[in-house]
Order: sequence, then structure tokens, then C-alpha cells
Amino acid sequence: MAKKNHKYIFVIGGVMSGVGKGVASASIGNLLQAHGYKVNLVKVDPYLNVDAGTMNPTEHGETFVLNSGLETDQDMGNYERFLNKDLPPENYITSGMVYKAVIDKERNLGYDGACVEAIPHVRDEIIHRFERVSTNNESQISVIEIGGTVGDFQNAMFMEAARVMHSKNPDNVLFVIVTYLPIPGTLGEMKTKPTQNAIRQLNSFGIQPDFVIGRSVRPLDKRRKEKIAMQCNIRPEFVISAPNVESIYDVPLNFEKDSFSKAILSELHLSVKRNPDFRDWEKFVAKSKKAKKEITIALIGKYFDTGDFVLSDAYISVIEAIKFSAYYLGVKPKLKWINSKDFESGKIKISELKKYDGIIVPGGFGTSGIEGKIKAIRYARENKIPYLGLCYGMQLMVIEYARNVLGLKDATSREINPNAEHLVIDVMEDQKKKLENKNYGGTMRLGAYRAKLKPGTIAKKAYKREEISERHRHRYEVNPKYVDKLQNAGLVFSGVSPSGELMEIAELSPKTHPFFLGTQFHPELQARPLAPNPLFTEFIRVAIK
Ligand code: GLN
Repeated sequence: MAKKNHKYIFVIGGVMSGVGKGVASASIGNLLQAHGYKVNLVKVDPYLNVDAGTMNPTEHGETFVLNSGLETDQDMGNYERFLNKDLPPENYITSGMVYKAVIDKERNLGYDGACVEAIPHVRDEIIHRFERVSTNNESQISVIEIGGTVGDFQNAMFMEAARVMHSKNPDNVLFVIVTYLPIPGTLGEMKTKPTQNAIRQLNSFGIQPDFVIGRSVRPLDKRRKEKIAMQCNIRPEFVISAPNVESIYDVPLNFEKDSFSKAILSELHLSVKRNPDFRDWEKFVAKSKKAKKEITIALIGKYFDTGDFVLSDAYISVIEAIKFSAYYLGVKPKLKWINSKDFESGKIKISELKKYDGIIVPGGFGTSGIEGKIKAIRYARENKIPYLGLCYGMQLMVIEYARNVLGLKDATSREINPNAEHLVIDVMEDQKKKLENKNYGGTMRLGAYRAKLKPGTIAKKAYKREEISERHRHRYEVNPKYVDKLQNAGLVFSGVSPSGELMEIAELSPKTHPFFLGTQFHPELQARPLAPNPLFTEFIRVAIK
């Protein structure tokens, strides 16, 4: 099923993870696209989870959702943002998927009585999946990022699959290793040894990298490039310098300083455009740098702390969506992470929220930190601070309204207290069985669904369309039994599913509040540098005022 002459670029990590392999892969895709090629970006995650939906966001970062509903690693979000296009589910591969397919096939006698083994069966299942992506999106080139680093045992099977593909078709397969070059404080000199060792380790799999992307605090100088080249059999001009940059969106343009895209294309025997089209991307980057006037947004969540460190990875798509809309409007967003539990303990006074131009409560699960979020939403409503609620942020907005405006004191969600009298947020019938059977993986309402917008509402004004399609990831819904009561009390359901059954957007009339709106979907998942999300843009526009 492999497409003839499809090109593959494998991106592998060395030295350590977390140095920007995902952004490097996305940037390669971005550059090749600027040369007029149709590009696929593929992520391989070596863990045994079948998808990323069951992982704790504090540990693993945000779960990204594709149109198809597949729950993936956050790198898929970067890929879509850098390519400005939707990616199909085949472009995300985990060890869990691979092993599950092999074991299911074995149980169905799919191997005709053979002894099923890692080599060849698991390896060939991986090759099949790598080759299958070539038929997606009419693509000509697939960039396949293998998660983790070359030293991880669990990556071995993916390396072996990539090696076999290269040995069968050396002209169509390239290897890029992304490594890290430390500059120890005591020395002040950039060291290449860890990179040399990582490349030797890759060699031990029978793979010789064609390109080395050297991540470091500073650019790699000629000496470092020559040293890596000499020690590792690589052409010095194929050692690409990737110093820290202000923003990840600078990375593609930075790669071009070393003429990276031309080198890749000529190694793949593809024609090089004399004038690749970087204009739109350059314009976006320039706009992001020019924005000076600050606007302050409070993001009230709970997945921030890991040990002594605070990470914002759990909300990466929300943060990027804010940036795209802010840059589009010529302002610079200043984000403040607030742990909602701090409103409950009194560590932070709720009136602190007065300082912000806008407040966002993003998606979330479970019971902790809920009352703090509800307090913040009430404050935003009563003090007319622009508020955007995303998924749980919309459900909690409905709960807050039911409690404090409708007077249903114990209004809540089944997720929070199944015994409460007023479950204004409840599960749909089809979800009940799944929960009873502990059937959690991949069973939420996931992926892109359409919604109809009501005329004369903020939502309609923002999207300028009758119907939209946005991505979802939730199990609970506004309880239809309360819709009329809520609407009579002034809450407007400005977006509903085409059948009219599910409430997708809730808002207050702009006559009552400048911007108080929540979405059952996640508009942040389709916000792109070159196509900001209209709701985020409207929210920021009002926040600026
Ligand atoms: N926990 C809520 C639900 O399952 C909201 C989910 C979310 O915010 N993504 O419906």
C-alpha cells in the first residue's frame, strides 16, 4: 500500500528529550511546504497507552484531539499549527496501537498459525503504519518524529522499522537527529561529546544520520560543526544550528540561516524552489514581535505543578490560541497562571482578579479546584470582566448561573456530586454504561462536531457564519431539563448541535455583560498562527477595550 517514491524523513532524539524535537519536526514540515510540497507530519509515541487520552496532563501535557476524535500527544497540535492544516488519525502512532493490532490479529488467526514475534511481525506492523501515511493528504513527504531518545529501549522496534525502510529505498529515506549541546557553567565552552555518543548509539542500530540539528543555548560555531562532522561522518554544512529562540515560531526561519530546506530537498532528490514562499509565516512572526501594548489574561486552572516546577504544557493550545488572536489584533498577551485551589484556601483573594483584562477557565476533569473556579466565574460575571470558558469552563459557568441567578443552591455536575438535587450538567444516556463498565479510553464525545449559531449573539458575530465545526472532548453536557429555566433567567444558548439537543455555546447578552461566553467544545484546538480562532479574537478584542 506504500506510495511509490514517497519520501520519508525520520526525526530521532539524542542526548535528552524535551529539547524541541517536535518543534524541529514541525518546522521541517513548514519549510518543505513553503517549497510547494505536500507534507505529512507523523508522531510516534513509544508508550503502551493506546492513545494519549488516559494520561495525566500534569505529567504528560495537554491531550490534543484531532477532527477524527483521536486523542493524541500535544506535538500533533504543533504540527497542525505549523502546517496550518488538519491531520488524519493515521499520523499518530503509539506502541500500544501497534501491539494491540498485532495481538488482535493473532487472536483472529490472522497470522495463519505462525509463531508471532517482535521481528518480523511487530516491526512489519510498524512499517505498514509508516507506509500507510504516505497515502494521506496527497502528501509527497512524511516527516516522522520518533518520541523519546535513541537510548530508550522501547524505541528499538521503531528504529529497526525505519532502518529497514531505508535499506530498501535509500534514496527516499533520510535521518535527522536532534541533539543537545551543553555549555557547562564551569567551562563556558559548548561540548560536542554527548552528541557524538548519541550518534554512535544511533549507528549501533545500523542508522547513520544525514543531518544533525544541534540544540543549544547559543548558535553552534564553525569549530563545533566541524568537530561533529569529522567525528560522526556528516558533512559540516549538514550540522544545523538551533540556538534558543524567543518564540518557537522563529524556528523555521532560523533553520533557513543554514539553508536547511534546500539541503533536505537535494538529499531527497527533489527539486528546490528558487523562491520558497515564507511570506505569510514571516508576516505572522513580524507581527508577533511588533506587538507592544500588553493585555493581561488570567488563566485559572489546576494542572500546573509537578514537584517543585510549574509547567504550562497542560494548556498549550489555549496559550497559543490566545497569542494568535492577540498578535492578530496587534497586542501582546501577558498570561498569569492561577491555581484555582488558591481561591479556595484564601491564598489569593478573589478581588485580585480585578487586575486582569480577561479571565479564562480552560478544560478540566474531576472535583478538585472546582469551587475556586466557580468563585472566579462569579467574580467575572458580577464585575463585567470578559470571560471565556472552555468545556469545563462552560459547564462551571452554567453551574454558577444556576446557583447564583436561578437560586438553585446545590446546582452542580454529576461529575462533581452525583447525589445533588439539581444536576444542571449531566451525562448523556449512552455515556452511563461506559462509566459503569469503567470503559474510559477513547469513549468521551470526541472530535469535530457541527453547531448552529443563533443570530444576534456574540458567537454569531465572532464566527460570521451560520454553522461551525469545532473539536470536543467531554463526557458531560448541559442537562436538557434545565435549558428553558436557564434561558428564561437570561442565559443564551447561542450555539446548539444541529439536532438542537446539545448546548454548545452559552453566553450572556452583550447588553448585560461585555463578554461572558463558554463553549462545550475546545476552540483552541483549531486556532492556528495563520488562522486565529474567531471566539478567542472576539474575547481579546473586548478585553482590549
Ligand atoms: N470534565 C468535563 C466533561 O467530561 C469537561 C471536560 C473538559 O473540560 N475537556 O464533560
